[in-house]
Amino acid sequence: MLNFIFFGPPGAGKGTQAKLISKEFDLIHLSTGEILRSAIEKQTPLGQQAKSYVDKGELVPDDIIIGLIRNRLQSYDNPKGFIFDGFPRTIKQAEAFDQMLAELGSEITAVIRIKVTDDEILKRLLNRAKIEGRTDDTPEVIQHRLEVYRKNTEPLIDFYKKQNKLYEVDGLGTIEEVNERIKQIIKRFL
Ligand code: AMP
Repeated sequence: MLNFIFFGPPGAGKGTQAKLISKEFDLIHLSTGEILRSAIEKQTPLGQQAKSYVDKGELVPDDIIIGLIRNRLQSYDNPKGFIFDGFPRTIKQAEAFDQMLAELGSEITAVIRIKVTDDEILKRLLNRAKIEGRTDDTPEVIQHRLEVYRKNTEPLIDFYKKQNKLYEVDGLGTIEEVNERIKQIIKRFL
C-alpha cells in the first residue's frame, strides 16, 4: 500500500495537487479538511464536534482526527494507496499514524512538502476566500491558521526528515508545473 502525505501550510496547493495526482495514479485522496467540512454541512456528530474548531481556525482534537483516519483506512478493500492531504498536523497525529500503518503491515511511503513563500500563501488564501467563501478563510482566521501551522505542524518537517521520508518541491509556478514536479517524486515509488 502506498501512503503519500502532501505536506505544507494552508494555501500551498495540497488539495489541488492531491486531486490531480490521485486521479493520475489511481490513489485514494483523503483530505481531513474536506471530510470535516462535509460533516459540518451535514450536521453529523463528527461535524457537530468539529465545527467550533474549524470556524476559528483551531485544530480539531487529535483523538477525533486519529479516529477519523483509522475508520477511513479500514473502509477500503485492498487499496492501491492513499494521498493524505492535511493529515497529520501534529506530532501526536504523526506518531499515531505510524503505529496505525504498522498495524496494517504498511508505512509512510513519502512525505511531499510543497514549499511556498508567505506572501504567496496570503495572496492565494485571500483569493480563494473570494471564490469558495469558506467560513475559515476570513483574514483573521487565515492569520490564525498560519500561526497554528507554524506552531503545531511545522515541527513535523524534522520528524519526517529524521525518518528519511521528506521530499521537497517548489510550490511556486503554474498548477501544471507543480504537478509535474510532484509526479517525478511519485514515480520513484511505483
Ligand atoms: P484544511 O482544509 O486542511 O485547511 O483544514 C481546514 C480545517 O479543518 C483546519 O483549520 C482544522 O480546523 C481542521 N483540520 C483539518 N485537518 C486537521 C487535522 N489533521 N488535525 C486537526 N484539525 C484538522
